[in-house]
Amino acid sequence: MSKYNVVVIGSGPGGYIAAIRCSQLGMKVAIIEKYPVLGGTCTNVGCIPSKALLDSSEHYHNAEMVFSTHGINVKGLSLDFGKMVERKSSVVKQNNDGLTFLMKKNKIDMYTGTGSFINKNKIAVTDSKNEKQEIETEKVIIATGSKPTNLPFIKLDKKRIITSTEALSLTEVPQHLVIIGGGIIGVELGSVYQRLGSKVTVVEFLDKIVPSMDEEISKEMLRILRKDGMEFILSHKVTGATVKGKEVTVTAENKNGEKVEIKGDYCLVAVGRVPYTTGLTLENAGLKTDEKGRIPVNEKLETPVAGIYALGDVIRGAMLAHKAEEEGVFIAETMAGQKPHINYNMIPGVAYTWPEAASVGATEQELKEKGTAYKTGKFPFRALGRARASGDLDGFVKILAAKETDEILGVHIIGARAADMIIEGVVAMEYRASAEDIARMSHPHPTYTEAFKEACLAATENRPLSM
Ligand code: FAD
Ligand code: NAD
Repeated sequence: MSKYNVVVIGSGPGGYIAAIRCSQLGMKVAIIEKYPVLGGTCTNVGCIPSKALLDSSEHYHNAEMVFSTHGINVKGLSLDFGKMVERKSSVVKQNNDGLTFLMKKNKIDMYTGTGSFINKNKIAVTDSKNEKQEIETEKVIIATGSKPTNLPFIKLDKKRIITSTEALSLTEVPQHLVIIGGGIIGVELGSVYQRLGSKVTVVEFLDKIVPSMDEEISKEMLRILRKDGMEFILSHKVTGATVKGKEVTVTAENKNGEKVEIKGDYCLVAVGRVPYTTGLTLENAGLKTDEKGRIPVNEKLETPVAGIYALGDVIRGAMLAHKAEEEGVFIAETMAGQKPHINYNMIPGVAYTWPEAASVGATEQELKEKGTAYKTGKFPFRALGRARASGDLDGFVKILAAKETDEILGVHIIGARAADMIIEGVVAMEYRASAEDIARMSHPHPTYTEAFKEACLAATENRPLSM
């Protein structure tokens, strides 16, 4: 029987990063993955394929709607959706191959099959032919991730009523895509198909979209997506979704009991994800999940069973790839006797819509709830030379800073390149910068980052230079 210092169950961004860091720190490591390819949700049916389709659909949309404003006339534009999906799959494969290379390079043994506990130090790996092997280990990292959740009264046929997984591999562009849930998946995948020509209707229970973001960002995104043609039915709880032939019917009602019925040809259910622990036989290791199906962990990310750790989507906190990665490094270094640290307040969140939206730290509503005295600095992209040059005028940077000390407490951006710009907010906040610190730093001209500086100036002294 093979023996390891650490066995990682699950090869998503949390699992593969944990495995690599453990190996770098001198441990003998194995990684177990149920599927024949590495990378988990993020690489195979999440971050990477969704961003590939977002980028491709944006190119198409720009060629159709934006190029002519730059004096570029495209004749005979057409869409080869099959090729677009094929490209997405090849991008995924490049990432799968890259991960296999990294495992080999770091001398990590790979096992394909479902990992399950025999006891806390013995793991069975059962492959698709039901053949079983056992491996022994001192420590285990559970990195089994999450899966899409569903509403109890909806039957997912995965052909017409689908999850994000199927939405990333459709064989045709829907005529009318009805999306249940205006969260991150709803707005990202809704954007893909809206740009490719689908009518898109999003039905959302709350009175806003992307509810975890700052309310002003949420409002601005709603305004922009509506302007681009996406339809939103807010404050409506979906009560049913059925299929008849090629037609789906989604029913919803508001709190006054007023009902709506929407007919389309596809329905995407995007109402969140739940931790995935099926098949792990946690009870054999003396573990059980909490009321939300998550694996409980302490501040060291160790479960109540010593030597078994867990990370990523299967534990508490934001379901984000980079959060899982930080936790992978944290666990490996903790096991090696180091004293790593994760500042969960500094984990940024991004929606890859157009324009992108990105946030770090407290939202304005959170500061109000906590009774924190704060000031706000905002700067619109349309006042920037760089934004005028490119034509990407929508959006703004919003800085929230402590009223007394000027320390930056939250950064919220909606606009071109927000996903890449947010790191300035992370660095500033990690080093506890004041808005004035940032306002006095030279930002290259002309760039979108000048909006960050200007918003800081607005927060610190209410004296933007460009407006
Ligand atoms: P996962 O990536 O879910 O990996 C878990 C792995 O464990 C899977 O491969 C699974 O097969 C395997 N596994 C499960 N049980 C077993 C078992 N018993 N034995 C062996 N293997 C097992 N996050 C971002 O930060 N940015 C984005 O842009 C982004 N886009 C997304 C888009 C979509 C459409 C979706 C669905 C998600 C997106 N996410 C994004 C979220 C991100 O994918 C997850 O937060 C991230 O993948 C979680 O990583 P993880 O390592 O915890 O688990
Ligand atoms: P979500 O939690 O972001 O949004 C779900 C939405 O569905 C909420 O707005 C909720 O109010 C709504 N909803 C729930 N029940 C409803 C009902 N009966 N009728 C109408 N609306 C209803 O979940 P998601 O969009 O499915 O995304 C899942 C996870 O994946 C998120 O936690 C996110 O972190 C992750 N993700 C991240 C990215 C990214 O980082 N760019 C992209 C995609 C997914």
